[in-house]
Amino acid sequence: MGDNDLSYYWLLRSYWEHGETFIIVEQDIELGPQTIHDLSRCREPYCTVPYVGPGTLLENALGCAKFDAVLLGHYPHLIAERLPQPVTWHMLDALVNTAIRSVHVEPHLHRPSVLHHHVYDGQCACGTDHPLFPVDNDGRYTKGAG
Ligand SMILES: [Zn+2]
Ligand SMILES: [Zn+2]
Repeated sequence: MGDNDLSYYWLLRSYWEHGETFIIVEQDIELGPQTIHDLSRCREPYCTVPYVGPGTLLENALGCAKFDAVLLGHYPHLIAERLPQPVTWHMLDALVNTAIRSVHVEPHLHRPSVLHHHVYDGQCACGTDHPLFPVDNDGRYTKGAG
């Protein structure tokens, strides 16, 4: 995805409005063996699986998140109303989280966390020992891992 690409916004919005439970797994996330099983069995309206971001554990991000049909059914126009204008992926995590919290739904956190293959300050956030493949200016791998 390019930095100015709005397709992620439109993809999320269309899944949301479609109204069926969906799970997002971004391309730089490495799932645990039970992650999808646990998310798909959970009946909470909004679930996230934390992962390491820039110096902190991200609990509100979109990298690995489930949106339940119950949530979508109650608030089918939440994205359209709270985020009427498309935004780039840089902004989408925080704005989607804020929109959901605005209707008093908090993320249900799942453990263990998942691995994030993203380079911050020359180190991959996953913390495991693998070669560093070329990254772009944001620290995203341009090929190889993910
Ligand atoms: Zn859950
Ligand atoms: Zn890694």
